[in-house]
Amino acid sequence: MTGPVTLSNKRPVAIVDIDGCLANNRHRDELIPPKWAWHICKAWNEYNEACGYDKPIKPLITYVNALADTHHIALLTARTKTDVCEGATLSWLRVHGVRYNRLFMREPGDNSPSHELKERYVKHFLAAEADLALAIDDEQANIDMFKSHNIPTLHVGGFNG
Ligand SMILES: [Mg+2]
Repeated sequence: MTGPVTLSNKRPVAIVDIDGCLANNRHRDELIPPKWAWHICKAWNEYNEACGYDKPIKPLITYVNALADTHHIALLTARTKTDVCEGATLSWLRVHGVRYNRLFMREPGDNSPSHELKERYVKHFLAAEADLALAIDDEQANIDMFKSHNIPTLHVGGFNG
C-alpha cells in the first residue's frame, strides 16, 4: 500500500465497506471475471470500473451519515484504485451524499483476497492507536477478520437484490 494510512483524528472510527453495503453492485454481475482469474486484481477492472452505475443503498447511507456525526468514517473497499474506478467511486459518493473522512482502496497489482487486504489496513490503523469502534461489511470472511481483532461488527446483507 502507498500513502499514509493513519486516520486523522481521535474520534472513534467506523470502517465501512462500499459494495453490498452502500452500493448495490448487482447490475455488474455480468462483468464478473471467470473464476480462474479471480485472484488477479486486474481481471476485475471492468467490473470495478462500472461502479458509477451502482444504485445507492439508502438505509445504510442514512445510517452511516448519522454515524458520521460522532465517528470518523473510513471507507475501506477492495475496489482497485485505477484512475477510472477511483474517479467513479469519488463521484458516486458525492452524488449520493455519503459522508466520510477517508477512502482506502486496493492498490493496483495487489492480488490479495479482500479479507487479507482489509486486515493489512486494520493493522495499520491499530498500530496508529485508532479506536476501531465498528466495522460494517457484507462478506463473512471480512466480518470474521474484523472479529479476530476484537472489532465490533455489523454484518449487513440482503441489500443487493
Ligand atoms: Mg462488500
